Amino acid sequence: MQEVAKLIKNSTGAAVLTGAGVSTESGIPDFRSSTGLYTQNQDAMNLLSLSSFFSRPAEFYRFFKDAFLRYSDVEPNPAHKVLAKWQQEGRVRAIITQNVDGLHQKAGATYVLELHGHLRTAYCPRCKTSVPMSEVAAAPGPYPTCKTCNIALKPDVVLFEESLPEGVFEQALQEVEQADLMLVVGTSLSVSPANYLVNYRNPNGRLVIINKEATPYDHTADYVIYGRAGQTLLELDQLISS
Ligand code: NAD
Repeated sequence: MQEVAKLIKNSTGAAVLTGAGVSTESGIPDFRSSTGLYTQNQDAMNLLSLSSFFSRPAEFYRFFKDAFLRYSDVEPNPAHKVLAKWQQEGRVRAIITQNVDGLHQKAGATYVLELHGHLRTAYCPRCKTSVPMSEVAAAPGPYPTCKTCNIALKPDVVLFEESLPEGVFEQALQEVEQADLMLVVGTSLSVSPANYLVNYRNPNGRLVIINKEATPYDHTADYVIYGRAGQTLLELDQLISS
């Protein structure tokens, strides 16, 4: 912890990669833990796919609302807050997240690259009209439809079988290539291409992984801390300030 705190203290612009594990302490389940979405419902990956969205929109939305939209009021936890603080202090430059919950921004982070989109809006796949997610959540019927085209609105989240939003992965690559420190927090590093970012980090920089359990990239890291994201980041912040 002391050595990692020193790395963060001396960093002039770390790149941080986060996943669902930074938001579990806010009450949002992750994907692969014992209480995760996928563990609880083996059909989760199928349901959250582009083909399900098009072929069975009612089922897609039943699951999507239950899995994501009911958490619209949750608050950031110490992990989001410490990362936002470090960004304001200049220790962290980019926060690259696989999460769609917007909690990094809610905690005050200003430069966040959302690899898998967000829950702020949905759009019509035909006419591209954008609709706030509050309207989507309140829409009557089994799924929300475009008022003009009368087809299902697609949330601006990246579904399985879909490519990432244009340019965002390239921007994330640039950030990890330049960063003197890459900090990975709360991700199983099992979703591609997000996990490839670890391979493309600055060869002269350091890699620190903070996660509750082992990841396939632990052997490539300079430091691995097994623990809860919120508590670990708070302790690191206290060490930096002491
Ligand atoms: P994942 O479920 O595959 O991995 C989460 C990892 O976080 C696990 O290894 C788990 O042990 C660890 N973890 C759980 N709670 C933790 C804590 N308090 N502290 C530290 N580690 C903790 O999630 P992933 O790697 O992000 O990939 C799943 C995909 O599903 C991603 O696209 C993800 O964004 C998406 N998803 C997003 C949300 C969200 O926006 N909050 C929630 C669920 C899934």
